[in-house]
Amino acid sequence: MPELPDITVYVERIADKVVGTKLEAIRLASPFVLRTFDPKVAEVTGKSVREIRRLGKRIVFVLEDDLFVVVHLMVAGRFEWTDQKGAKIPGKIGLLALDFERGSLLLREASSKKRASIHLVRGEAKLREDHDRGGVEPLAADRAAFVEVLRRENHTLKRTLTDPRLFSGIGNAYSDEILHAAKLSPVRMSTKLDDAEIDRLRAATFAILERFTEALRKESLVKGFPEKVTAFREDMAVHGKYGKACPVCGDPVQRIKYADNECNYCATCQTGGKLLADRSLSRLMKEDWPRSLEELEEKKAVLRGGRGAREGPRKCPRLTHSAAPRERFRAAGEPGTRGRTCPTRTSSSRSRGCRRNHPPGSPRRRASRRPRSPLDAPAARTRGSDSRGRAPTDRRPRRAADTHASTTSP
Ligand SMILES: [Zn+2]
Repeated sequence: MPELPDITVYVERIADKVVGTKLEAIRLASPFVLRTFDPKVAEVTGKSVREIRRLGKRIVFVLEDDLFVVVHLMVAGRFEWTDQKGAKIPGKIGLLALDFERGSLLLREASSKKRASIHLVRGEAKLREDHDRGGVEPLAADRAAFVEVLRRENHTLKRTLTDPRLFSGIGNAYSDEILHAAKLSPVRMSTKLDDAEIDRLRAATFAILERFTEALRKESLVKGFPEKVTAFREDMAVHGKYGKACPVCGDPVQRIKYADNECNYCATCQTGGKLLADRSLSRLMKEDWPRSLEELEEKKAVLRGGRGAREGPRKCPRLTHSAAPRERFRAAGEPGTRGRTCPTRTSSSRSRGCRRNHPPGSPRRRASRRPRSPLDAPAARTRGSDSRGRAPTDRRPRRAADTHASTTSP
C-alpha cells in the first residue's frame, strides 16, 4: 500500500500538473469505485483545483466552492499521468480517469480485489469527519506529541506505528524499516519504552520517512511522475527481504506471517537473537519452536534433510540411476522442489525425483520397486520414500572399505 513517502510524492507531482487548472471530467470505468452519491459528479466537474493534500494515506483534491475529491489507493491502486487529455482508460485494471486542462490522471488497480475508492465530499468539516483517522503526523510531531501517542494505548510497536488513529501515513513497509533502524522489536509494547528507546524510535521514524521520500522524489522528477510505486524496494533493509541478509549484521531477515501479510525483522539487530512466533512455521514445528537463530538453523536442516545438518544434504530418493556428484542432487527431491529441473536428466523432477527415465508404471520403475530376491528385500524397501515423500534416514550405499573391514576382520 502506498504510504507517507509514496503519497507525499504523488501529491507533489499531481500538484505540479493540475493546481490552478480545471477538473473537466470524471470518467468512471467501474461504477463501484465511486463510493458517494452526494455531491454529484456534475457538481465537482468544471471547478478549478486549489490544492492537492495528503490526508493519512489518502490523496485529496481541494476544489473551489469547498468541494473535495478524495482518492484512497488501498493496496494496489496507482496513478498514471498522461498529457493526452481524455486518454482511454486501460481495460480490466482501469478504474477511472480525471481529466484536467493539461492532461488526464488515470487510476488503475492491478488486483482481483478492487478496493481503491473515490469519494466526493462537500465541506471541510465533512472531509475531517469521514476521512481523517486522527493520527499524528509523524514528521510534524514534537517529542511530547510523539510520547503522548506512544503511551495513549498499550499495543505492540508494529501495531502502534501502523494504526492510522495513532500515526498518520505509516503502513506495513515503512514500520518494518523504522523498527529495524531503531533496533526495536516489533512486538515490544509501546508503553514500556524507556526514554532512550523513545528517542531512537522517533529519530528512526524521521530518518526513514525523510530518506525514502527524498529518494522517491528524485526518481519521480526524472520522468515527471512517480512510476513503479511499490512497497518492496531494493534499498529497504528488512521489508520484503525474508531470508535475505540484514544489511547491518548479515544474519537472515525473519518474519511473522499473518493471514495475508507479514512483518519482517532482524532477530540479531532487533530482538537480541530471539525469534518471534511465525504462524506458518509454528504449525510445522508444533511445540519445537526454536528460541534462537542457531536453533532455527538446526531445526530447518533436520526438517529439510531428515538427517540433520551434520550429515549433509540427502539424495533425491528416485535418482539412483546416475553416478553424478552428490552436490548436484542437493535441490532435487527436497521438499519444495517439485517441478524443478532434474539436475542430471533435464526432465522435470517431481517431489519423488526424476520421472523421465522412470515414468510411473514403466517396467524399470516397477522392477526397481519389487524386491528381486529375498536378500534384496530390505534394500529395495529403503529405496522408496515414506508416505510423506521423505527419504529414509540413511540411504548411502555401504562403502567398499566398510564392507571389506567387516568381512576380513577376525
Ligand atoms: Zn541485523
